[in-house]
Amino acid sequence: MAFKRVEDSEVFLSVLMQPSHSNFGGKIHGGYILSLMDQIAFACASKHSGAYCVTASVDTVDFRNPIEIGELVTMKASVNYVGRSSMVVGIRVESENIQTGTVKHCNSSYFTMVAKGEDGKSVTVPGLLLEREMDVRRFHKSIKRIELKKTHQEAYRQLDALADDSLEQLKGYNVKLNLPQEYE
Ligand code: GDP
Repeated sequence: MAFKRVEDSEVFLSVLMQPSHSNFGGKIHGGYILSLMDQIAFACASKHSGAYCVTASVDTVDFRNPIEIGELVTMKASVNYVGRSSMVVGIRVESENIQTGTVKHCNSSYFTMVAKGEDGKSVTVPGLLLEREMDVRRFHKSIKRIELKKTHQEAYRQLDALADDSLEQLKGYNVKLNLPQEYE
């Protein structure tokens, strides 16, 4: 099939947060949430592409609200964008206090997944059939995010070119310089 509907690869996941998933502070470990997000991104991308998929990158995971033991975490995922062999899977993570019914938005993240063939080479994925206004909005948002990322990567590359004379610029930061004399 040349184009597939967004709805056909949607994935939902609800997990009750167990004490074994908590960190030393008694909140749910961010690494555990990330692992669940990676699983749902994999399932969603595999559904769309019909292929084995790998995670290529993850766009901003800001933990907005801590998750407590006993809460019900729900993740909703859908394909936002497709390239030739890549797909951007958007995931919304919410956590519900099942006694009070209060729902918190924990984070929204965008995973770039790549479809692979049995030989490990990237394979072409079906296009995306955009049927709802929200599908179009998310596709546009992904294009913008990809453009911003390219600009960002260029800025990062320039960081490598920074010379030692940038030491002056460290004044005002929470550091104390204790370098060998040849740097001074
Ligand atoms: P948005 O990307 O600007 O729409 O930000 P949101 O925080 O609302 O959602 C983040 C991502 O989670 C979206 O891009 C979708 O991929 C996914 N998502 C959000 N709501 C739903 C939903 O009701 N169903 C499914 N399948 N995915 C959703």
